[in-house]
Amino acid sequence: MSAPSDSMTQIKLEIDLSHRQKITTANAQLQKIQRKFSFAAVLVPFLGSVVAVGLLPYTGIGPVEIWLLVSMYVLTTLGLEIGFHRHFSHRAFQTTNVIRVILTILGSMAAVGHVIHWVSHHRGHHPYSDQPGDPHSPYLNTKGQNLNQLRGLWHAHIGWLFESEFPNVLLAKDLLRDPVIVKVNQLYLLWVILGFAIPAALGGVFTGTWMGVLQGLLWGGFVRVFLVHHAFWSINSITHTFGSRPFDSKDRSTNNIWLAIPTLGASWHNNHHAFPNSAMVGLEWWQIDPSGWLIRILEAVGLVWDVKVPTAGKIEAKKAVK
Ligand SMILES: [Zn+2]
Ligand SMILES: [Zn+2]
Repeated sequence: MSAPSDSMTQIKLEIDLSHRQKITTANAQLQKIQRKFSFAAVLVPFLGSVVAVGLLPYTGIGPVEIWLLVSMYVLTTLGLEIGFHRHFSHRAFQTTNVIRVILTILGSMAAVGHVIHWVSHHRGHHPYSDQPGDPHSPYLNTKGQNLNQLRGLWHAHIGWLFESEFPNVLLAKDLLRDPVIVKVNQLYLLWVILGFAIPAALGGVFTGTWMGVLQGLLWGGFVRVFLVHHAFWSINSITHTFGSRPFDSKDRSTNNIWLAIPTLGASWHNNHHAFPNSAMVGLEWWQIDPSGWLIRILEAVGLVWDVKVPTAGKIEAKKAVK
C-alpha cells in the first residue's frame, strides 16, 4: 500500500520544487553575494553595539545619544513597515512619488537590503508561508525539511539570510517598471552610509565634540541598526511561533503584543496574514499600530489615498472558530 503515498509525496515534492524555482533564482553567484552582505549586516551592527556598550562606563549616554537612537529607529522602522512592507510589498495604499522615495530611502537606511530584493523575498513568503518554499519559516528549512523549535527560531531569525536562494526579482515587476524607484534602489549603499553619517554629524553638531560624533555614530547608527534588525527578524521567528491566532490563516502566524511598539505595529502578524493588503495591521482599537495610525493621518491630509482596510463583516467572517 506504500506505492500511492510514495507517488503522492513525489508529486508534492515536484510541486514544491517548481514553487521554489518561481520565487527564487538558482544563481550561485548572486547567492554568494547575498551571503556576504548578510554576514556584514549581522556582524557589523553587533560589533558596533558591543563597542557602544563597552564605552558606557567611560562616556555614559546622554539625551543627544538617546534622541538620535530613538528618532533614527522610528524613522527607519517606518520606512520599512509603511514603505517596504505595506506600500511596496502589498500595495495597501497609494501615495505621491516624493513620499515613495522618502520611504525607500528611510527603509534602506535600516540596512536590510535593496527594496526590490526585500519586496521579492517578502512576496515569496506570503503564498508559501510555513510551507516548503517559504524563505524563513521557523518550522522548515529552505530545503523544506522539518526543524525543531530552537533550530527553527534561529533559522527564521537569522539562518535564512545565509541559506535562502536569491529571490526572483520578477516578483517585484511593478517596482522594476518604475524608473524612479529603480534609481533609488541602485543607490542603496549610499542610503546605508547616510544612515550612519547623519547621526554622527548631528552628534557632533549638538555636542560640538569629536566624542559626540563617535557617540552619534554608535547609538544612532550601529545600535539603532542592530535593534531594528532584530525587531524585524522577530516578525519571521517570534510572530510565527508565540502569540494568539484569532484568524484562520493558512500558516502559523501569530499576534504578539510585546513586539507591537518595537515593530511599530507589524507584530499583529496573524491579522496581517489574514488580510495581507490591509493598510491597518492592528484591527482592534487596542492593537497598537503606529504605522497604521500614521497612514491614516497622511490620508486625512490628502498625501495618501486608496487605503485598503477590510470591512467589519470580512473580519468577522475570517475569525477562527473557537
Ligand atoms: Zn509571516
Ligand atoms: Zn507581508
